[in-house]
Amino acid sequence: MSADLILQGGPVFGSEGADALAVRCGRIVAVGQAADVLRLKRANTVLIPLHGRPVLPGFFDAHTHFVRAGLERTFYVELRAARSFAEALERLRSAARDRPEGWIVGRGWDESFWPEKRYLERADLDRAVPHQPCCAMRVDGHLVACNTLALARCPRPDGEFVDRDLGHLREEAAWELFRLARPGRDTLVEAVTAASRHAASLGITSVADMAARGDLAVYQMAARREALRTRVFLYLPSEDLSALKELGVSRGFGSPLLTIQGVKAFVDGSIGARTAALGAPYRDGHGSGQLLIERAALARSWRQAGEAGFQMAVHAIGDRAIGEALAAAHAAGVNRWDRHRIEHLELPSPDQLDEVAALGLVASMQPNFLQWSGPGRMYEERLGPERDALIDPHQEVLARGIPLAFGSDGMPMGPLYGIGLALEAPHPIQRLSLSEAIRAYTEGAAHAAFAEGDLGTIAPGKQADLVVLSGDPDRQPWVELAVDMTFLAGERVYLRAGAA
Ligand SMILES: [Zn+2]
Repeated sequence: MSADLILQGGPVFGSEGADALAVRCGRIVAVGQAADVLRLKRANTVLIPLHGRPVLPGFFDAHTHFVRAGLERTFYVELRAARSFAEALERLRSAARDRPEGWIVGRGWDESFWPEKRYLERADLDRAVPHQPCCAMRVDGHLVACNTLALARCPRPDGEFVDRDLGHLREEAAWELFRLARPGRDTLVEAVTAASRHAASLGITSVADMAARGDLAVYQMAARREALRTRVFLYLPSEDLSALKELGVSRGFGSPLLTIQGVKAFVDGSIGARTAALGAPYRDGHGSGQLLIERAALARSWRQAGEAGFQMAVHAIGDRAIGEALAAAHAAGVNRWDRHRIEHLELPSPDQLDEVAALGLVASMQPNFLQWSGPGRMYEERLGPERDALIDPHQEVLARGIPLAFGSDGMPMGPLYGIGLALEAPHPIQRLSLSEAIRAYTEGAAHAAFAEGDLGTIAPGKQADLVVLSGDPDRQPWVELAVDMTFLAGERVYLRAGAA
């Protein structure tokens, strides 16, 4: 047998003593010591020396919003990097100057990092963008601030999710408006192209995408144009369930790059928007959040998803929402072999975690959310120090044998960043070892999408989805490391400038 590609001269994650691997026809065919693996070398074999750099399985982001991540790079006015309220407004103002027609759509603002510590409001946006509809979504996707022209498109009356004075839309009302501002098909396909290129630069070779309505068509078009260089496992909105059932589509339908995997439902919102459903009120006196779905309705769609052969991915952040999700799981009689997932699982009680384990649910968590935990950070402000010390308990999840999958929720995408936060987490129950964190971002995420037979570890027979880091984390601080190369099915899809 001959190899198309051999990587040699660096540690292979998960294989003690191995320093080389060989790839043929997109799959790994050998892992071991260079002297053995190099026997597969022929005249046309591409040989890549690692010079001590480690090779890891390609990262699998277990929860992201890929089209959105692309639009952030191509279409949205990027507000995540705004360091102040004033700077966020200035970015919107200057976008309106450059593009004086149509919607101005901002994305990613996070007031918790601003000195002003206040939400964007209608009057602010009217001043910045007076002549075009303008809306700006908070980093968590659960709150949209609108100017008057954008608010005029919102068909809902004032109420639970609509505050016209402040120009704030939450949850469903926010997403409805954001859909109106969604750009055309070509812009969306460009966004997927950009997201895929960006993902490769971060070492991401697979994503579980919590997709919006209509994204499936966009992905298919991107794949046809050969612009999709990331494996996408789709979780479609649960409203699409009956249509999928009618077609007879079930889990695993698709191609090696694009698979329909399950559906997604929301039980609550986010802590940042104060819509996560808590057992006790927010510390800063804004109620205790909202439940977004009736327990019976969730149980019904959960049962239907299971019967149709889909995974259910249930968004539940607050302890009250997690309790609802677990009650619905019981009512639906979920089958533990279906690997249904709880997304985020931020504030579970110890009893709730026991139940997650007993029901065989997967914990899909985001270590990058730790950016908001710790003294003086947003979670502590919203929840108080006691609950902040209990949030995102990755260690407790692993201790119970609950399958743990790491993702980013696109805030921002970046496994190295997320893993770094899990290593240095402010509270002990959040902290993981390096290999635990890497496994959650590779093997764990692959398992959460039923893809562990093909992805998630480096072993003969598996897809050659690989990442080479710039240095060895055993010798160098994690935060100094970068992604040097990314391979998808043995093809190099990213090479860092200056790396070789
Ligand atoms: Zn999400």
